[in-house]
Amino acid sequence: MKLIWASLCFVFVYVSFLSDAQSTQAPKPEAEVVRVRLLKGSKKIQITGLGLRFQNLNQPYRQVSIPAGDARRSLNALDFGTEAEVRLMDKEGKKIWALRINNKDPERLFSEKYLLIQGENLRSGDKTLPSRVLLSVNSEDKVDVVGVVPLDEYVVGVLASEMPLSWPLETLKAQAVAARSYALAVMEERKNQPFHLESSVLDQVFRHVLDSDEKDPLIKKAIQAVRETAGVKLYANKGQVLKAFFHSDCGGKTTTAKNVWNTNVNAGVAVDSSCPTNPRAHWKLTLSKDELSRRLRVADISGLDLIKVPSENRVKAVRVAFNGAPTKMVSANEFRQMLGFQELRSSLFEMKKVGESFLFQGQGYGHGVGLCQWGSRYLGQSGQSYRQILKHYYPLALLK
Ligand SMILES: [Zn+2]
Repeated sequence: MKLIWASLCFVFVYVSFLSDAQSTQAPKPEAEVVRVRLLKGSKKIQITGLGLRFQNLNQPYRQVSIPAGDARRSLNALDFGTEAEVRLMDKEGKKIWALRINNKDPERLFSEKYLLIQGENLRSGDKTLPSRVLLSVNSEDKVDVVGVVPLDEYVVGVLASEMPLSWPLETLKAQAVAARSYALAVMEERKNQPFHLESSVLDQVFRHVLDSDEKDPLIKKAIQAVRETAGVKLYANKGQVLKAFFHSDCGGKTTTAKNVWNTNVNAGVAVDSSCPTNPRAHWKLTLSKDELSRRLRVADISGLDLIKVPSENRVKAVRVAFNGAPTKMVSANEFRQMLGFQELRSSLFEMKKVGESFLFQGQGYGHGVGLCQWGSRYLGQSGQSYRQILKHYYPLALLK
């Protein structure tokens, strides 16, 4: 795997990065490189690695290389390699990068907005990083660390984070195609942004899979699922790659993106009779009036009204009434966010007042749009292929 991905050299990153603004052409397959934000908003960044190279992206670019051999010698053959500290500083009103190696050399300065770092065994603190990362300045003038990762290496890292790898191979393959399609759709939406995707539930959870992890049979299985679906994507009916949402447990029936985020992506809905029978399908949440007021950021809540999606049990919006002010309407998704996505686990719930507290009882976990992971596990166990699983959850989409 490493060899194939290593062949995607810096030139692609460099070219695709600089040409984003001018080019309207679809990227070539080999140029499908994901920029995924791994660390957010520090004043300075410590990075260790072997054979570190630092490059700005101007032409002619400035490069500082610390060969792996030198790093080993200078650090008495310790395998953690060179330590570099990069901080952002102001120079005549402009932000520039100041790089210091092994805490001793004079700082070296880079004027470009982005600084590319390459090397082996890259780490920042206890976080392992891919072999190519970009430092960029965010809107708060702080440093973001953005991994620059070939698409299918990224999909392996999503699969290893988003689904238990002990699940059926066909289920993993369906998840791989959904994750690849989601990534490509978002990459197109954010092609001019410093990074395409967050490495959290805000997009898809991603962790860098180390080369040494590839001996692990479960990681091997994730790689197999990605390879056996290489190039396979879901398409929306207008021919663009589908923003293929997925979630943990639909609770019995999936819903449309319109019901959750009021967006127009529509790949259809699916019924999953297996999901409500999951041992973890049902949940309860009790919040006191004070706690609920605090989380909803209102002074003194007096009542809640659930507004359901027509002909469904799913909540679309919540009308919040509080003493001394007009009512406030929030979408079910915002309501879940305010209460905590992991506590109010889905929008498929009922609510009742018990004394001075509010009791929420529901089923399922996640937004309910697109592929349902627990349902796709069941379908995989029942012998369905990944194509059948994807057809079930995205009935209006094309698979190519
Ligand atoms: Zn389901």
